[in-house]
Amino acid sequence: MNAEIIAVGTEILLGDIINTNAQYLSKELAALGINVYRQTVVGDNEKRLLKAFEDALESCDLVITTGGLGPTADDITKETAAKFFNQELIFHETSWEFINNYFKSIGREATENNKKQAYFPKEAVILENHNGTAPGAILKGDNNKTIIVLPGPPKEMKPMFHESVVPYLRKESKDILYSKVLRISGLGESAAEELIRDILDKQTNPTVAPYAKEADVIFRITARAKDEEEAKDMIAPLEQEIIDRLGDNVYGEGEDTTMEKVVAELLMKKELTVAVSESCTGGMLASRLVNYPGIANVFIEGAVTYTNDAKMRRLGVKKETLDNYTAVSAETAIEMAEGIAREAGSDIGISTTGLAGPGTGGEDKPIGLVYAAITIKGVTKVKEYRFAGSRNKIRDRAVSAVLDWLRRELINHK
Ligand code: ATP
Repeated sequence: MNAEIIAVGTEILLGDIINTNAQYLSKELAALGINVYRQTVVGDNEKRLLKAFEDALESCDLVITTGGLGPTADDITKETAAKFFNQELIFHETSWEFINNYFKSIGREATENNKKQAYFPKEAVILENHNGTAPGAILKGDNNKTIIVLPGPPKEMKPMFHESVVPYLRKESKDILYSKVLRISGLGESAAEELIRDILDKQTNPTVAPYAKEADVIFRITARAKDEEEAKDMIAPLEQEIIDRLGDNVYGEGEDTTMEKVVAELLMKKELTVAVSESCTGGMLASRLVNYPGIANVFIEGAVTYTNDAKMRRLGVKKETLDNYTAVSAETAIEMAEGIAREAGSDIGISTTGLAGPGTGGEDKPIGLVYAAITIKGVTKVKEYRFAGSRNKIRDRAVSAVLDWLRRELINHK
């Protein structure tokens, strides 16, 4: 089934509100296996809306509109849809009662204007609105063409879509779209894409869509199938092929998986405790770990040691190290990581120290230079990173890189 989404409202055309309804509906329709051919925005104007219906239904079976179901004269969506299908509007007593009850429930009275909202073509399926006054409707015309009219406010439109439209469309459409997400770290979007270039070039069903999200690259594998089980069977071999090619760079799967969750689970599985000492990341590393609800089992403490004095006092970093190499150095990072592990009595100590900017930095110590060290049961490694971006981007990227590094160390830790 093919669909077009038409958002009705001059407010959207004027740029006063963002058309989030179209985004929401596109995603939901894709998940139902319905192809969205086009998203359109039309002002509150009958002539242009009639033309939009005509254009849309020339190539699509289904139009979903949002907005323009209110009680005032410029709310014309339902009336125009009925006119388009040559259907007459008649007063629908049950809807009127429903509207009155809704007003009573919020301690108000319906006005005469609201009566307009209780008129529908007699052929229409009426969709109750439990969060506002305007009922929606499914109008069916000739040639099996359908217009579904939904209210504009997202808090009314979304529940109506879920409660009434999804079950209706499920009955109507044969195929579903099912997606699986692979999360990749340590490779940029184009490097990751290059590794599966041939798959991307010849994809049909399932498809693979790469995109970048914060520090991660994400591959969304989507199959069109008759049901979820068939889709999963179609996705599995392709997923395995991608994992084989990308190896440890694939850190997890699923919409809700995060790097901190993967790291926390590895720490628990390997029964290793961790403590962190942070300079440039100022607590962000600890905060990311604490995002994971079960982290108390393995995370002991974090120290934000910003000044040289704090690094010496809290972590036992030597004065000579700071004098000879400065705070932003591999040597300091190593002593910080070993210091926090010793102080906390943890199996693992992690440190970050770097220049997050703004400014230009020096020639040998540019902005974006970050050292991190990880010590695991007495074996310490250090890394030098160069990150680009604003102060906060650099700090964010440093935390993501260090978490990813820890993940890789944990995978290899026997
Ligand atoms: P009401 O019964 O509240 O009058 P309606 O169906 O007539 O609803 P509109 O008057 O067109 O809807 O829009 C009401 C509000 O809903 C807008 O002010 C806006 O906040 C929100 N809205 C409308 N269309 C959209 C859209 N496409 N995307 C996001 N929000 C929208």
